Amino acid sequence: PLRDTGAPTIFDKILKKEIPSTAVYEDDLVYAFRDISPQAPTHILIIPKQRDGLTQLIKAEEKHKELLGHLLYAAKLIAVQEGLEEGYRVVINDGPDGCQSVYHLHLHLLGGRKMKWPPG
Ligand code: 5GP
Repeated sequence: PLRDTGAPTIFDKILKKEIPSTAVYEDDLVYAFRDISPQAPTHILIIPKQRDGLTQLIKAEEKHKELLGHLLYAAKLIAVQEGLEEGYRVVINDGPDGCQSVYHLHLHLLGGRKMKWPPG
């Protein structure tokens, strides 16, 4: 399991366009792109453009509250854009036990198939 070291992540390279990605949504604060290893027909990652200490949700501070709401609202906008009115799932994998592998806060938006509950 991977842990937070504070080191730059692959998402910095994606944000700098040093690694290509398929953009689905962008505004002043967030960028969203298709996951390279999709776990559902629609699998999108929504990330803050500035990590600003948000390696994981548990590192969030009071000052991040507006950005956190912005990320979640972006998930809704993208769900509509992707035609997911029948349903979808928004996931944050947080920390080693949460299966986090990239330490730059991100929402997973998954849809296009019937989800299972509980998750594994
Ligand atoms: P985590 O496991 O941290 O919750 O999610 C990280 C996600 O980033 C994984 O679903 C993984 O497939 C995705 N990912 C890792 N590297 C890349 C990449 O270079 N490009 C894209 N588009 N997704 C990536």
